[in-house]
Amino acid sequence: MSFESLGLAPALLRALAEQGYANPTPIQAAAIPVVLEGADLLAAAQTGTGKTAAFALPLLQHLSQGAPATTRRPRALVLTPTRELAAQVHDNLRDYGKHLRISSTTIFGGVSMGPQMQALRRGVDVVIATPGRLIDHMQQRSLDLSGIEVLVLDEADRMLDMGFLPALKRILAALPRRRQTLLFSATFAPPIKALAMQFMHEPREVSV
Ligand code: AMP
Repeated sequence: MSFESLGLAPALLRALAEQGYANPTPIQAAAIPVVLEGADLLAAAQTGTGKTAAFALPLLQHLSQGAPATTRRPRALVLTPTRELAAQVHDNLRDYGKHLRISSTTIFGGVSMGPQMQALRRGVDVVIATPGRLIDHMQQRSLDLSGIEVLVLDEADRMLDMGFLPALKRILAALPRRRQTLLFSATFAPPIKALAMQFMHEPREVSV
């Protein structure tokens, strides 16, 4: 199995070669074709399996095909339980997307809102956010979620463990119904299944 055979664009293959990635990991091999098709994906994968690239690569490919985001209106939203994970996803998107023109920014608490508002005003394709601070920005109207084409819930089980279910529900209610949703979780525990049932459209399941 090679990255070429998964259907990834040359600009992404070049970035992967530069990263020194020779072959896709099992979660990448299973998830990337599903996401490129545009289907919803429910993926069980632990940290360390290469799960970030499993969503980041097809997400970048999708975004490279449309017009760039306009002011305050991102095209993709990645929700993470912690700011550390948000920063890590941001770094990975930058590395894998280095030969594409895709902009991204992180939105998390513990730092001032101003620079985050400025980034949103300039227009970014991807927002990588923790749920609490994203709600703050929604209340301030510093972003408009009506243009979200792809939603990623990364480490969804940890977000639920941390009590983010009410925040997630508020965010999900502000998103367009017609979108692609990708949910990554270490396990498919009943609350994860319930979330998927409520907010995803005929998700394909992958577990490694
Ligand atoms: P993650 O599970 O997303 O936290 O990724 C774990 C680590 O594996 C990260 O340091 C990635 O840079 C690395 N990685 C992801 N995919 C591959 C791959 N196909 N080949 C080699 N390393 C990879």
